[in-house]
Amino acid sequence: TQRFVDPLSGVGRIVNSYENARASGERIVGLVSRPVEVRDREDSVVRETVEGHVEYDDVTFSYRSDRPVVRNLSFAADAGDTIAFVGPTGAGKSTAAKLLLRLYEVDSGTIRVDGVDVRALALDSLRSNVGYVSQDVFLFDGSVAENVRYGSFDATDEEVEAAARLAEAHAFVENLPEGYETRVGERGVKLSGGQRQRIAIARAMLQNPAILVLDEATSSVDTETELLIQRGLARLTADRTTLVIAHRLSTVKDADLILVVDDGEVVERGTHDELLDHGGLYATLWNVQAGAEATEEFIAEVVARA
Ligand code: ATP
Repeated sequence: TQRFVDPLSGVGRIVNSYENARASGERIVGLVSRPVEVRDREDSVVRETVEGHVEYDDVTFSYRSDRPVVRNLSFAADAGDTIAFVGPTGAGKSTAAKLLLRLYEVDSGTIRVDGVDVRALALDSLRSNVGYVSQDVFLFDGSVAENVRYGSFDATDEEVEAAARLAEAHAFVENLPEGYETRVGERGVKLSGGQRQRIAIARAMLQNPAILVLDEATSSVDTETELLIQRGLARLTADRTTLVIAHRLSTVKDADLILVVDDGEVVERGTHDELLDHGGLYATLWNVQAGAEATEEFIAEVVARA
């Protein structure tokens, strides 16, 4: 079902706040990004819902004219597929995925959703059908319920709670002083990173988009929380086309297609098994990470069984 009432208050704004926060904080003077001038065309195409086909066709993008951050990127996802971007930090993975939301416009090439150029799609159609979950969750000064409901304002209390349950957030929310009415954010209860992530998952659950852009968290949480987040994410991404900036081996292993990005370019592509066989950059990354994560996974399993 489509619940977006006011597209301007939806994921677009969450994303913009995130962008602003990032732009004001992290970016070094001189690396000023181009002003975002994304607006609807006069004859923009409205799509209440989409199937979830996503296609990047020779996409190139640069924040500054002299250095493309995404170069000649092409891939196609069928509805429900998971496409994982992996590669070194700064390679352009997040940027590549954000282009789908039209946070920036491509310099050349085309991105299509269900065969429609995203530049021709009405922005609110695009952003109500493409969810965005990142580690920098935007929580505003309001109750937990309001934060989960953000972007799906006609959702009932029951729907909010159901989404929170699916996101594995219900248990900790119930333990807050005033449950779902507990105030969070600026002047409220300070939530941990893992709790914020689950609020973000619940919010996306309510939005119920056919397509999801997921920037997996890198910050560490305890193993039990990690397990809950993984479970929430598994439910969220099931049956949705997902572009994931992947940091977890479990995510990558099960992806329909893995794109190994280095310096803006796809240097290897395939499934986990294909890439391991290939013995290139992916195989190297995998072997370095596998040792560390095998231990973590083992601990998680023990915790889960306890
Ligand atoms: P990570 O894994 O660390 O998140 P990434 O592969 O997702 O990295 P991006 O975040 O897409 O990489 O960044 C690619 C390059 O673009 C980096 O050099 C980064 O500094 C630069 N960049 C990212 N966002 C902006 C921006 N808003 N303005 C200017 N440059 C940017």
